[in-house]
Amino acid sequence: MTTTPDAPATGPIRRITVFTGSSAGTDPAYARAAVDVGQALAARGIAVVYGGGNVGLMGAVSTAASEAGGEVHGVMPEALVDKEIAHTGLTTFEIVPDMHARKMRMADLGDAFVALPGGIGTLEEFFEVWTWLQLGIHRKPVALYDVRGFWRPMLTMLDRMVEEGFVAGSFRDSLLVATTPRELIRVLEDWAPPAPKWAEGEAPAV
Ligand code: AMP
Repeated sequence: MTTTPDAPATGPIRRITVFTGSSAGTDPAYARAAVDVGQALAARGIAVVYGGGNVGLMGAVSTAASEAGGEVHGVMPEALVDKEIAHTGLTTFEIVPDMHARKMRMADLGDAFVALPGGIGTLEEFFEVWTWLQLGIHRKPVALYDVRGFWRPMLTMLDRMVEEGFVAGSFRDSLLVATTPRELIRVLEDWAPPAPKWAEGEAPAV
């Protein structure tokens, strides 16, 4: 990540980094939602940046975007090329040395971030970019794409963290939630960054 706390707010959104499951989930609604998002981003001329695999929801979103004529950029650590089945139909496919390099590259490439339903890898990637926003390492919007109320228990937990004084309400409010592709693009484009947690000369805003 090369941005600093003084980095300008986001400009136009040309590429969205998508975090999502390497599994498809038990309900077909998840894959349908991933396809909807991929198609909508392609139709809007927004490129998809993602982990490069052709499995689970990752495969669904990237294949849909690519088949709809969109740009798709995959970033995969060498060790996963066989396991996550490197997608061969992408605009670009980068092999990086490890997970850390992958996340750094995906964070640099995206103008915004969205997590679709997924497992612990998805959570890890989502929380990293969201905490980087809190620290002012980047100033890019971060969203959850909710399908069947999948993220609701986690949102409840985040509200609890605010109530208990562990998370600033203003930072909690910086997290965007969308349930349709149109809403997703709109909230990402309309977003204004929160003040960083450790703004110069100020106490943390919890
Ligand atoms: P999951 O949500 O567990 O199915 O994983 C979704 C994606 O996150 C997969 O591409 C995983 O390889 C990836 N992933 C899991 N852990 C990490 C990590 N520490 N850094 C980067 N990517 C990860």
